[in-house]
Amino acid sequence: MENEERIMRKALAEADKAAELLEVPVGAVVTLDGEVISSAYNTRETDKNAVCHAEVKAIDEACRKLGGWRLHKCEIYVTLEPCPMCAGAIVNSRIKRVVYGAKDEKAGAFGTKLNLNDFALNHKPEIVGGVLEEECASKLSSFFAALRESRQKRSESEKSSSNKDFSPDI
Ligand SMILES: [Zn+2]
Repeated sequence: MENEERIMRKALAEADKAAELLEVPVGAVVTLDGEVISSAYNTRETDKNAVCHAEVKAIDEACRKLGGWRLHKCEIYVTLEPCPMCAGAIVNSRIKRVVYGAKDEKAGAFGTKLNLNDFALNHKPEIVGGVLEEECASKLSSFFAALRESRQKRSESEKSSSNKDFSPDI
């Protein structure tokens, strides 16, 4: 458990890198025998690419580093429950174990919105959820709160500047 939290903190540090780019803060780390093989964060906006989720990028890098698509001895740590695309990539890469932080009520594909492990696929990773759950969830909720606030400020300043445009000059 202690070790899981230690690696989840690395995934959280990746999520911070995403937040700095105003990306939804999700980070992922792939490990082999407890050693970090790859780490990545969501860059969907920066790369203007729908597949640039943290997990897909971390799996991509791990395959390159290990020289093969079978990651059956690897584990993936991710701050948010994987979406259907990432859960699919995890099954396809044969990752043996998934450790995630916060549940994803909107798109979580390992038990929350749906469970890919309920289907008769040829690989079922072991799933552990809720590791540093509060920290992972609060990183997301504070990011969205800050985003809403900045949008509100922007629309208010737009309103006040447009008022100025229409107010008569005295
Ligand atoms: Zn995903």
